Amino acid sequence: MLLGSIEAGGTKFVCAVGNKDYQVQDKVIFPTTTPEETIGKCIDWFDKYRDELTAIGIASFGPIEIRQNDPKYGFITNTPKQGWVDTDFVGPFKKHFDLPIAWTTDVNGSAYGEYVLATLFNQRVHSLIYYTIGTGVGAGEVVDGRFIGEMGHPEVGHIKVKRHPDDLDFAGICPFHGDCLEGLVAGPTFQARLGISGREVPLTNHVWDIMAYYVAQAALDSTLMFRPDKIVFGGGVVSEQFLKKVRREFKKLLNNYVDVGDVEKYITMPLAKGNGSATIGNFALALKELQE
Ligand code: ZN
Repeated sequence: MLLGSIEAGGTKFVCAVGNKDYQVQDKVIFPTTTPEETIGKCIDWFDKYRDELTAIGIASFGPIEIRQNDPKYGFITNTPKQGWVDTDFVGPFKKHFDLPIAWTTDVNGSAYGEYVLATLFNQRVHSLIYYTIGTGVGAGEVVDGRFIGEMGHPEVGHIKVKRHPDDLDFAGICPFHGDCLEGLVAGPTFQARLGISGREVPLTNHVWDIMAYYVAQAALDSTLMFRPDKIVFGGGVVSEQFLKKVRREFKKLLNNYVDVGDVEKYITMPLAKGNGSATIGNFALALKELQE
């Protein structure tokens, strides 16, 4: 018996098959081109495992339609990604494989993976928020195995934050809001602020303090609104060194108002290594879909 996982990102698709213990048996990466070509490649690849495949979990970039009773359930909707507006994603898989398919956002897939791993690591985690800070910013929220978001999935990347006094002349890069969280801390902001990529910016650069101030506000707001057991930060911009700065700012902002326990355990890097959270989450969601 095999479970399938598709992590659909704006630049690449990661397809994998794994067993019920969430161990990857095979994996492939396709660049994101047109919907027909990319989805077609995925279907062809999974076809090799047709006899053993029992369910598939798909975690996609968005926005996506998640309401089961909506005619566009399983679609990527009004995405800024060119060529992908109104793309039926789940439909072609349903048609080809006739298997249970779990469908959620990329960050929800990762959040679920971290939720499952926390349990496997014997952490007492009932609720968890997973942020990704990479090309874009987003977050998924799991409470007792269910996602928050009924009318649609959360869009935490676009929350408003208080500006850092040393950053007031930066307009932000979000095409919708300018200086929302994503507009201030997503990977491409390094290029916009400094003219170089984030990889070339040493942690001693003040920009990292400014970003930590914004990310700490996101952690604070998440804490005050949801009181989760844990907040996980993943994505290309995040490192343990950066999170040290975030924790320091977070403690200042929280000012001991509520107890979050040991902040080192509360604000953490992903348990899954090598950006593997979503694949594990997708396997687990596929298994859940199968059992339901
Ligand atoms: Zn925005």
